[in-house]
Amino acid sequence: MTELDRRRFLVALAATVAAGGLASHSTAHADVQGSAPGPIVPTPPKLLPPPGPGSRVALPGGTVLKTLPGDGDLLAWTVDDGVDTEVVRLYTKFAKDTGVRLTYFVTAAYRSWTENAAAIRPLVDSGQIQLANHTWTHADLTRLSSGQVAQELKSTDAFLRNTYGVDATPYFRPPYGHHNATVDGVAADLGYRVPTLWHGDLRDSALISEAEIVSMASASFTPQNVVIGHLNHTPVTRVYGQLVDIIRARRLRTVTLNDVFLRPESSHPASRSAG
Ligand SMILES: [Zn+2]
Repeated sequence: MTELDRRRFLVALAATVAAGGLASHSTAHADVQGSAPGPIVPTPPKLLPPPGPGSRVALPGGTVLKTLPGDGDLLAWTVDDGVDTEVVRLYTKFAKDTGVRLTYFVTAAYRSWTENAAAIRPLVDSGQIQLANHTWTHADLTRLSSGQVAQELKSTDAFLRNTYGVDATPYFRPPYGHHNATVDGVAADLGYRVPTLWHGDLRDSALISEAEIVSMASASFTPQNVVIGHLNHTPVTRVYGQLVDIIRARRLRTVTLNDVFLRPESSHPASRSAG
């Protein structure tokens, strides 16, 4: 064997070992995604870009937001809470690495939002990650007084202005999806006039397995859907590649809410100047 042949042999051997490793990894989840194991193709680094600013539409008035309007190829992937600092860090790194656009519904009492601020801020500044209001302590707002509801939203509003320099209005997500006319009225007075719920759910507010998360993503990553996930448990951080593969295979474009909707004229809370 010449020196050149020996090198070629070693390169081929290394490639075989690498492909074998990837193949076994892929096969483990092939049944979940419902596709036959195929050739191993390296994952392209970036997802499809969002639509341009010219295609933004007015917010539908007076309704809860659960899906995106119209027929399209958009996916609003939203993630909530931030119980675990490491999960917030890894989700943010995932966004940076893949270009996936996310809306974070921030429960600002969790330290993760302060501890990860330096990593999150550039993505917020570029618009790739949007920050929205998910209350201060994750209380069930329907069980609080009007004053307490206002305080829950105002505290996180102030935190997001002070820490990230953003106005999170008009989007708020009531914890557990629990809201009523009183809650919505108090929120609207603070500029939070869009109760933002969801139609698809990764079901990872509880600790579930990686396979279950991928299965839920397969069911809920559909055109014009608003999907909820959570920044609370680590399994999701181990299946990012598979979640992105679903999005890419379906040719969906991930979007923040600001990518989809025009900012309302009066999203600036009138109550701020009134105290
Ligand atoms: Zn929550």
